[in-house]
Amino acid sequence: MGYRAFVDLVAPPLLGRFRLRAYSQVMTPSRLRWLVEPGSPTVELAGLFAAAGHQLYLVGGSVRDALLSRSHDDLDFTTDARPEQIKKIVGKWATAVYTVGQVFGTIGIRKAGMSAEITTFRSEIYRDDSRKPHVTFSDRLEEDLSRRDFTVNAIALRLPDLEAVDPYHGLADLGRKLLRTPLDPEVAFSDDPLRMLRLFRFQATLGFHPDEAAVEAVRSMANRLQIISAERIRDELSKIMEAPRPSRALKAVVSAGLADQFFPELPALAMEQDPVHRHKDVLSHTLAVVDKTSPDLVLRLAALFHDIGKPATREIGADGVRFHHHEVVGARLTRDRLRALRYPKEIVEQVGRLVFLHLRPHTLKMGWTDSAVRRYANDAGPLLGRLNELVRCDVTTANRRKAEAIGRRLDELEERIAELAEREELDRMRPPIDGNQVMEFLGIPPGPQVGEIMEILYERLLEDGPYSEEEAFEMVREWATKKRLTS
Ligand code: ATP
Ligand code: MG
Repeated sequence: MGYRAFVDLVAPPLLGRFRLRAYSQVMTPSRLRWLVEPGSPTVELAGLFAAAGHQLYLVGGSVRDALLSRSHDDLDFTTDARPEQIKKIVGKWATAVYTVGQVFGTIGIRKAGMSAEITTFRSEIYRDDSRKPHVTFSDRLEEDLSRRDFTVNAIALRLPDLEAVDPYHGLADLGRKLLRTPLDPEVAFSDDPLRMLRLFRFQATLGFHPDEAAVEAVRSMANRLQIISAERIRDELSKIMEAPRPSRALKAVVSAGLADQFFPELPALAMEQDPVHRHKDVLSHTLAVVDKTSPDLVLRLAALFHDIGKPATREIGADGVRFHHHEVVGARLTRDRLRALRYPKEIVEQVGRLVFLHLRPHTLKMGWTDSAVRRYANDAGPLLGRLNELVRCDVTTANRRKAEAIGRRLDELEERIAELAEREELDRMRPPIDGNQVMEFLGIPPGPQVGEIMEILYERLLEDGPYSEEEAFEMVREWATKKRLTS
């Protein structure tokens, strides 16, 4: 039986009775073996800490992801050693040592392809930038684990023997795919309100479900998110957006009242009827579009914001509801919101532009001129691929014929862009000599003969690609000899 199956089926009841000692004695799952491979940097590091009389544990996301066989970039370690001691222990051994996080107890290191953070056990920590960093170190691992966000992130593996320390039953929760705080959720969320958003972030990235009590707590204390910096919120939002299917987590962020705190335009979409798509409201349509797009941050954000201008532009007329120029208003709202969330300028501009352009292809009737096609491609610039994908994914109508018609129109548009590009590429290619040089060389006046020879020179270009000026004159001479124009 695979380890995953073991956790799913056996672990919850087993762990309840025997705790984790049983688990580590039963097996060292193959997915953890790389941690204890002789000569590996993790083994060497554990040796250094042991020699200095200190404990070392792998902890947090790196343990969780190792157990789930997911890749994880950086390793997180925790230790009873204080930051000064950590620096002494790893100083000579590591290739690089980073101390930017030292006030929080964290020393970063690199060694032989391993990038890791080693943090002293902590019993208290305010992480928000708006408050003075406040950290209390601890001598007890259990205390450190109790301050972590979720039980699945609060499992520690002692090195080098891989004994699991799991006082909050994170392994059982991994098996149940459950996101639960180690302490009471009210306590956990008031200690650091960002954890409320992280709850839904992990729902999106891991596909786990949030514990009902935790969701209840978010509902009652969502406004605490106000004290959290825009940068920290932005990073969690980005991780949600890059998850395989963000819709369910986004919906939960809205319904728990969290979105109101940092992105109020999103819940406003739920109030808006959707007269065109098959969804009952604009929010549901938006979330469906998000899930359909590929997980690229710019494209996903554009999907999330594409109809954001609808509530502000709604007009009810004789022939139903209209959202006149909602893409223009939407692009402005998009830029404002992304700026407030401290997204880099380039992302703000790219997402804003995609929102601005997302309706353009719908004006494509049979009669789009070359110049309209050219302008579309030009306005989209390097975003063309993403724009076309956004427009395709925006089609969520239940009406098959209508959906197919829009799909065909987009195919046609893409073909025309490709054709135009090819033609213009060729137009940019010119034979190495021009008509004047031909006339001068042969001593003939302008006329159809010049056109004829230019055609030949151009044909050769299409056939063989670029050639030299001498070759061109040689061709002119041959042509003239045939025509007996020269002696
Ligand atoms: P990923 O790296 O995949 O985003 P992660 O779980 O490693 O997920 P990080 O933000 O890298 O998340 O944090 C590493 C670990 O630090 C977490 O697993 C958790 O144990 C702890 N942690 C991080 N942020 C918080 C927080 N706001 N409150 C409590 N614990 C946290
Ligand atoms: Mg991490």
